[in-house]
Amino acid sequence: MTSVLETKHLTKSFGAIMAVDDVSFGLKKGELLALIGPNGAGKSTCFNMLMGQITETSGEVFLEGQKINGLLPRQIWRKGVGRTFQITSTYSSMTVIENVQMALLSHHNEILRIFSYATLKYREEAMALLEMVNMADQADRHCAVLAYGDLKRIELAIALAHDPSVLLMDEPTAGMAPKERVELMQLTAKIVEDRDVSVLFTEHDMDVVFANAHRIMVLNRGRLIAEGNSEDIRNNSLVQDVYLGGGSVFANEPSAKHA
Ligand code: ADP
Ligand code: MG
Repeated sequence: MTSVLETKHLTKSFGAIMAVDDVSFGLKKGELLALIGPNGAGKSTCFNMLMGQITETSGEVFLEGQKINGLLPRQIWRKGVGRTFQITSTYSSMTVIENVQMALLSHHNEILRIFSYATLKYREEAMALLEMVNMADQADRHCAVLAYGDLKRIELAIALAHDPSVLLMDEPTAGMAPKERVELMQLTAKIVEDRDVSVLFTEHDMDVVFANAHRIMVLNRGRLIAEGNSEDIRNNSLVQDVYLGGGSVFANEPSAKHA
């Protein structure tokens, strides 16, 4: 199967630190792919390169076969690489639906006129996106009063407003309660199934990863050390070494959870 997004020998060093070291992988169409690894493994650095936020030391990134590294973040985003942010970035003074309408206006290049008719345009489209993330019933509430987990779901709707072919989610469930984490990832899995979108995500709750990811890659000290399905990763001795210093399988064990 062809890859929507592909990296070849992607490398980033910060002085003597090899944050990402010769990483090559492909994200397949319709895939929910997890990138896991201990704190400092290089996950965020990898994401930041994919989004054009930082420049690679060497290597390449391809979107639908077209080289995208070297482009500005906005250009990459325009080509269909969406993202959700680790910190929520909704406007608290606006309502839920206005936030999504803003994203739709931006998507349609109408951002300069937003304040005149954010309340008028794309309401139906915005509502459809809110329905997708189970937030339609809270459309007219102000974001300021919402729970953290709800804001994260609105963020997902905002990211989808740009109709991305690829969605990058760096710790989308950071700061969420376990139940909310499970729900958000289940929702993401459903969106991957329902829409034509491929998702690369990081997540530190192993149970959530194992339950939802189609495939898992493990990064350690900048290098990809394992790749496979939940079963493969659970039983991989190298992965067990990294997570538990040689202990047993890490699912359901608190010591497996890392930041
Ligand atoms: P992860 O997201 O897996 O926790 P990061 O990609 O944030 O890991 O970090 C990988 C390594 O690169 C770490 O050693 C981190 O300290 C280092 N690093 C990340 N960003 C910078 C930076 N801007 N300057 C220097 N070192 C950095
Ligand atoms: Mg990180």
